[in-house]
Amino acid sequence: MNLSKKAIGINPSITLSITAKAKELKEAGIDIVSFGAGEPDFNTPGNIINAAIKAMREGKTKYTQTSGVLELRKAICDKFKKDNELEYNPNQIIVSTGAKQSLANVFMAILNPGDEVIIPVPYWVSYPELVRIADGKPVYVQTGEDCNYKYTIEALENIVTGKTKAILLNSPNNPTGTIYSKEELTEIAEFAKKYNLIIVSDEIYEKLIYDNKKHVSIASISEDAFKRTIVINGLSKSYAMTGWRIGYAAAPLEIAKLMVSIQSHMTSNTNSITQYAAIEALTGTQENINSMIVEFEKRRNFMMKKINDIGGLDIIKPNGAFYVMINIEKFFNKELNGKKITSSLEFSELLLDEEKVAVIPGAAFGLDNYIRVSYATSIELIEKGLDRLEVFLRKLSTAQ
Ligand code: PMP
Ligand code: GLU
Repeated sequence: MNLSKKAIGINPSITLSITAKAKELKEAGIDIVSFGAGEPDFNTPGNIINAAIKAMREGKTKYTQTSGVLELRKAICDKFKKDNELEYNPNQIIVSTGAKQSLANVFMAILNPGDEVIIPVPYWVSYPELVRIADGKPVYVQTGEDCNYKYTIEALENIVTGKTKAILLNSPNNPTGTIYSKEELTEIAEFAKKYNLIIVSDEIYEKLIYDNKKHVSIASISEDAFKRTIVINGLSKSYAMTGWRIGYAAAPLEIAKLMVSIQSHMTSNTNSITQYAAIEALTGTQENINSMIVEFEKRRNFMMKKINDIGGLDIIKPNGAFYVMINIEKFFNKELNGKKITSSLEFSELLLDEEKVAVIPGAAFGLDNYIRVSYATSIELIEKGLDRLEVFLRKLSTAQ
């Protein structure tokens, strides 16, 4: 059959497929430790669940405005004001079925065929594919230890062309956990102004920040930055609501209108019950969230210490989100049970086969010499999984 060439060229999400595989094995009774999922292991807080039940009982089960009910969009505006010093009007807010859909809407709204979007490497797995789905061209800026896995203006100047339409920013970053300072954001905002670029700022890990660092939204840097930035955020991570499917974008009105128009044909509004739950999440008690953040920081510290105790492993130290990147390059060309490791995917598959630990191969993020382990899981499971990783690495070290 002669199917869509574009669709055939899109890679399925590795993060989702590995997470699904780990869940399937667990359900089949296999003792898996999953470091795959980028999702909190906590249940959604009770007050949010109660708000959803109440909404259902009150018959709030019908279509809503495509962009979301006004009460929710107002709550999102209040959040932006309180957390980010940003003043939006509710008609600049579009609520979507996950931040993933918000990003898809953005790229469809701003890109013409061949327009380039600057993406940092490592990147979250879906950015390049979402740009391609919208007929854009992802162009990559390699980051590394020397620049703390962040953009440098020099690297940006080298990649920008007449076709560059937008620059993607993700702070705190998935998968590295790095956070941009206000000064660094100011430089990037200046760069975007110089080349008249749209800034797409994915701030979904905004609340998951450690070491007393502070999140700054690039949209708050200047009036100019505000006018050229689309902020993406969502409740999946910070409110443990991955399955509810809710994210949102705040955009200049002209872009917001296009995003609403696109979404009105694709999915209409996000689930009405989820929207009412989200109002409670944003306006109700934040106590549960705060204790989750404290727990994530404890887990991060535990995981880093444990990896350090294994010895000989280089990691990217995260200040936010809930992932650690571990360098596995020195295990390339090792062979175990007749299987040779030549990539992060082969490393991850062998680790799952041998020791029943699921991790995400760095190739998903454009860094094939790394694996990503998530600490959005209990201390006990972190300990168990890393003990197994240590056994695996020892086997590899003594192998050919
Ligand atoms: N951005 C980043 C950086 C992510 O890690 C995720 C995780 N799924 C998303 C966006 C999308 O989240 P969701 O669609 O669940 O809101
Ligand atoms: N964003 C999470 C991750 O990176 C969840 C999976 C996904 O949506 O890709 O693991």
